Amino acid sequence: MQEHNYWLTTAEMPTSGPARPLPNAVDVAVIGAGFSGLSAARTLAKRGAKVGVLEAETIGWGASSRNGGMVLTGMKLGVNQLISRYGRELTQRMYAGSLATIDCVEQIVQEEGIVCDFARTGHLEVACKQKHFDDYARQAEVIAREFNHQLRVVQRQELTAEIGSKIYYGGMVDEVSAGLNPARYVAGLGRAAIKAGAEIFEHTRVESLTRESRDGEAGWKIATSRGALWAEQVFVGTSGYTGRATPALQKKIIPIGSFIITTEVLPGKLAQELSPRNRMIYDSKNYLFYYRLTPDCRMLFGGRAAFFPENDQTVRRSAEILRRGMIDVYPQLSDAKVEYVWGGTLDFAFDIMPHAGQLDGMYYALGYAGHGVAMATYQGQKMAELMAGDKPENPFVGIPFPGAPLGLYNGKPWFLPFAGAWYKFLDLVS
Ligand SMILES: Cc1cc2nc3c(=O)[nH]c(=O)nc-3n(C[C@H](O)[C@H](O)[C@H](O)COP(=O)(O)OP(=O)(O)OC[C@H]3O[C@@H](n4cnc5c(N)ncnc54)[C@H](O)[C@@H]3O)c2cc1C
Repeated sequence: MQEHNYWLTTAEMPTSGPARPLPNAVDVAVIGAGFSGLSAARTLAKRGAKVGVLEAETIGWGASSRNGGMVLTGMKLGVNQLISRYGRELTQRMYAGSLATIDCVEQIVQEEGIVCDFARTGHLEVACKQKHFDDYARQAEVIAREFNHQLRVVQRQELTAEIGSKIYYGGMVDEVSAGLNPARYVAGLGRAAIKAGAEIFEHTRVESLTRESRDGEAGWKIATSRGALWAEQVFVGTSGYTGRATPALQKKIIPIGSFIITTEVLPGKLAQELSPRNRMIYDSKNYLFYYRLTPDCRMLFGGRAAFFPENDQTVRRSAEILRRGMIDVYPQLSDAKVEYVWGGTLDFAFDIMPHAGQLDGMYYALGYAGHGVAMATYQGQKMAELMAGDKPENPFVGIPFPGAPLGLYNGKPWFLPFAGAWYKFLDLVS
C-alpha cells in the first residue's frame, strides 16, 4: 500500500515553471491555489484584473486534490437546524445557493473543457440507525415544501438497487449531486486561471499582510517567503491550511483531518454490485464514512478516522481503521487489496457553516466543512464578482461568523481529542 494520493496518479498539474520573480504590484493577490483561490483568480483575470496567486506549496496541493470528488447539494447542517438558526427566507436563499454551486462547477467544466469525469450521478445518504431513517422522510418533506427540491427516500428492502450493503436501515437520494476527479478538476481550474491571464507563484508562502498606501492608493504590503509585493486587494482562500499570516481567520477555523483509502481496480461485476448507480455515498453518523467508485472502478473509502490533520502517523493509523470500516459496509471487499492511503485537512467554522466576506479589510471564503468541492468553486467566483464591484447574490456573506466560545482558541486545536471523543459518544447515543 502506498501512502500517496491516488487522484494525483491520474492528473497532470500545471506548474508555474522555474521560480520567476514576483511582480512589484498586482491588483489582486489571491492566497492559496485550490478551488477557492483558482476560481476567484479565473473570474478576476477574465474581468481584466492583474492577478497574482500566491501558493505556499504547489497548485492544488491542499484539500482540493485530496478529496472524495463529491459535488454535493445542501450544507453540513440539517435543514431544520438551519431554519431555526437563520429563519425561512435566508435558509431558502442558502439552499438555492447550494444548488447553484453544482451548476457553477458544471458550467466551468463545460466552458473550460476540463476533462475530470464530471457526472450527475446523484448522492445517497444511508441510515445507520432506524431513527436516522425515520428522520429522512421528515427532512425530504421540509426540503420539498420549503425549497421546492425533491429527494427520494429509499426503504430498506429497496436499498439493493442503490448499494450492495446490508447494514443500513434505508437511504435518501438526491439526483442533483455529482461526482468528479478532484485532481483533474483543480488542474483544469489552474489552467483556466492562467489562460485568463492570472499568474500563479508556487512555493511562495505569504508570511504577513500589512495595510499600506502606495501613490495615495490604499492596499496591502505582502511579505512572502520569496520577497514582498503590493496588492490593492487580497482574497484569502486557504481553508483548512489557514495559518499565522491571517491570524483573525485562523482563530475562527478548526483544521480537522480526513483520510481516504482506495482499493485495487475491482472486477466490473463486483463494482456494479457495490454501487449499481455509481452514487456518491455517505452515512448518517457524526463520525461518518463517505465512499464511491472511482471512474476506473476502485472503491474509494474515506472518513474522519483520526481527528488530527494528516501526518505519517495519522495516515497509517487511518488506513487500518478505514479498511475495517469498508469491510463492515462491504464484506465482499475483504480480499480486495488497498493500494493507496492519504489524508488532508478540512476547515470547520465553530458554527459549521461556510463563511465569506471581508475581515480586517481582506476578502475571504472558507468553512466548507466537507462540502467544499462545489461551495469553494462558487464562493471563489462570487467573491471575485464582489471584489470587481458587482453585487452578486450570496446568502453566506454577512451571516454571523463566531469565534471560539470564551475566545479559548488561538488557532491550535488543543480540543480535538475531546471533540473526537464527544462525536463518538454522540454516535452511540443519537
Ligand atoms: C480527505 C478529504 C476529503 C474531502 N471530500 C470532499 C468531498 O467529497 N466533497 C466536498 O465537497 N468536499 C470534500 N472535502 C473538502 C474540500 O476538499 C475542501 O473544502 C476544498 O478543497 C477547499 O478548497 P480551498 O481552495 O478553499 O482550499 P485548499 O484546496 O485546501 O487550498 C488551500 C491552499 O492554501 C495554501 N496556503 C495556506 N496558507 C498559505 C500561505 N500563508 N501562503 C500561501 N499559500 C497558503 C495551501 O498550501 C493550500 O494549497 C474533502 C477534504 C478532504 C481533506
